[in-house]
Amino acid sequence: MMTGAQYVESLRQRKPRVFYKGKRLENFVDHPAIAPHVRTAAMTYELAGDPRHSEVMTATSNLDGARISRFTHLFWSVDDLLKKIAMLRLVGQETGTCFQRCVGLDAANAIWSVTYEVDQAKGTTYHRRFREFLARVQREDLMCAGAMTDPKGDRSLAPWKQADPDLYVRIVERRADGIVIRGAKTHITGAVNSHELLVMPTLGVPPEGADYAVACAVPIDAKGLTVVFGRQTNDERKEESGLDAGTPFGIVGGESTLIFEDVFVPNERVFLAGEGEFAGPLVDRFAAWHRANYGGCKAGNADVLTGATAALAEVNGTIGNATVKDKLVEMVHLVETNFAGSIGSSALAKQLPAGNWLVDPLLANTVKQNVTRFVYQVARIAHDLGGGVLSTLPSDADFQSAEVGQLLRKYFAGKKGVDTDTKRKLIRYIEGITSVASLVEALHGAGSPQAQRIVMLRQADLPGKAKLAKKLLNIVD
Ligand code: SF4
Repeated sequence: MMTGAQYVESLRQRKPRVFYKGKRLENFVDHPAIAPHVRTAAMTYELAGDPRHSEVMTATSNLDGARISRFTHLFWSVDDLLKKIAMLRLVGQETGTCFQRCVGLDAANAIWSVTYEVDQAKGTTYHRRFREFLARVQREDLMCAGAMTDPKGDRSLAPWKQADPDLYVRIVERRADGIVIRGAKTHITGAVNSHELLVMPTLGVPPEGADYAVACAVPIDAKGLTVVFGRQTNDERKEESGLDAGTPFGIVGGESTLIFEDVFVPNERVFLAGEGEFAGPLVDRFAAWHRANYGGCKAGNADVLTGATAALAEVNGTIGNATVKDKLVEMVHLVETNFAGSIGSSALAKQLPAGNWLVDPLLANTVKQNVTRFVYQVARIAHDLGGGVLSTLPSDADFQSAEVGQLLRKYFAGKKGVDTDTKRKLIRYIEGITSVASLVEALHGAGSPQAQRIVMLRQADLPGKAKLAKKLLNIVD
């Protein structure tokens, strides 16, 4: 396994074509807009090397028996799924933000399971290819981004009916030695600082859309691939050096738009190429695993947020107030409800034909549905208790000013004996982690609320529930 420093060094060996705010970045690793996200992902490596966390952060590979990072491990039991949630909460607590690496983990599990079934049904060799790819990912401890969401253009039209057929990633050429893909993927978490991209379709497609049913692995510095790093709320603060820059880990995951301009993918990296009926299960499984995560990572982040809110109340001298305590308990209640859903969906997992275990889809989608609401509610309480200063605090430069700095320290003092910097750090953390980028990520990451409700309806077995009622009430159809 790599250390955090080795991971960062490994990124320097790659030469992706990266743009940010209109400029091409030659050294993306150290760019202040990107470096916080690199440091966060590096924590997934650091914690795996920490003996105190090895039970949660590492696993035994089912491919070759080696000890590997759990971020490259297939979910080979219910216990693996439970430990994954524990891992997400731990890394969420240590970084206070999104650490990106789980997308590729869930993508790997989805591709593993679906390629097995495609091969069984069609006599293809996708599973063997993916097994070899994954063995290398485990051996070299690579970070993979999962690239699923297409730009989608006119959402009332199927991919192959769009005015521009490239609005969904598609195969534009099939060669004896591989395929050529074109299109784009949007909001791809951690892509710029990943070694590999696991490209997946966004939706199941009928035979006429076969070219859109494509799953493959693309190195981040592949020829023809362009990475455009996105903006975030307060992102220019990352370019400051003072206290306003926030924690070393930034806010949310650092998302990119990926543009594939006729990227050649050799056969050994192609895991689906036209079998549209398998694209739907791939999407559903990836989504179930990833949605179940949110009660883990967001709980870890919310542990820090709740702690910061309580610490700020302490500084403000309000922590003894019964109403304040009750609001903090409400934060805990919401967070633990999400966590319980993630644990529950893992505990009720079922084994797939390929051997790995799939979380309960109804509970997984319910967790994510709750997250879309509870993260906002938790943030609302933090705003309520933190006060208006969360959005009006003067800049760090003003606190450092020879002319007004002392005055600001005097008037922003809290409880006697607490340094004003402590108060400002808490305020800035709460401000950042409850900002629009963070909330929108909780709402739309791993699929928008309506996407979960569609699965929930499918999984809820309403006719079965109606039968229960009729039986109890002695109603005969
Ligand atoms: Fe991982 Fe959570 Fe970030 Fe998704 S939102 S990549 S599960 S930390």
